[in-house]
Amino acid sequence: MGLHKAEIFFFVLLFLIGFAGISSFMAWSTASELQTVDDNIIPVLKYNYMSMVLTGLSIACSVLLIYPTIKVGVAERSRLRDMTASLSIRSETLEQAAVTDALTGLHNRRYFDDALREYLEAFALIETPVGMILLDLDHFKSVNDTYGHNIGDEVLREVALCMQDFTRYHDVVARLGGEEFAVLSPNITERQIFELAERIRRAIAQIAVEAGAVSINVTVSAGIAIWDGKETGEELYSRADKQLYAAKRNGRNQVCTAA
Ligand code: GH3
Ligand code: MG
Ligand code: MG
Repeated sequence: MGLHKAEIFFFVLLFLIGFAGISSFMAWSTASELQTVDDNIIPVLKYNYMSMVLTGLSIACSVLLIYPTIKVGVAERSRLRDMTASLSIRSETLEQAAVTDALTGLHNRRYFDDALREYLEAFALIETPVGMILLDLDHFKSVNDTYGHNIGDEVLREVALCMQDFTRYHDVVARLGGEEFAVLSPNITERQIFELAERIRRAIAQIAVEAGAVSINVTVSAGIAIWDGKETGEELYSRADKQLYAAKRNGRNQVCTAA
């Protein structure tokens, strides 16, 4: 087991103080043995001198070795604390990035899948309905093809803002990929979720993204399903997806529900 520098200095200091103490004691005991003024006081002076030198060395050891070592240790600890704090902020940011869609700032597919599983587990216990809306922009490929990918991205960002505006804080709003979005909405009736999807559909149709002299509008199709209390997340998703497909087939820019 190796000794730390500060520990070595500490033992040196202990050694110096110990010997200074012994020298003082020797000076005192030698002086107390002197009987007359003619007795030799040289040994007393030697011990005194040694004690003074050892005390001086103790002070020098404290000031020149121990104090700087303590100072360096404190600075290192504080630097380590700062580094740990910035690392934990960084790892939180990375965790956040892992569940966030970089383009829109909405939750991503991974977050949505986890939330779906957790919501169904939690809401099964209190028998509360959970609704899902799947949305897919209509003919979005032609927006990209006509106006370019950057304008397409701008449309996706506007759609995301619009969805955030219309949903409640405990709704999970996610971009599942490409131009497909989803809302998971707990404690909501079939009627209410249909109205929510309709409001979002109408608001998206109002979005106007400028591309030079042209103003671009998009529409969205949506499918809805309400959890039956027994099915898995995948089954619920698949029912909503069937309704989305029906909305596309029926002419797009509409909301379809199983009921
Ligand atoms: P439909 O009405 O049947 O949904 O037609 P659509 O053109 O919207 O569907 P399709 O699946 O043919 O095309 C989806 C397009 O979405 C293809 C791709 O150009 C575009 N897209 C996917 N991801 C992104 C993205 O991150 N940014 C942009 N700008 N476009 C994207
Ligand atoms: Mg589409
Ligand atoms: Mg699509």
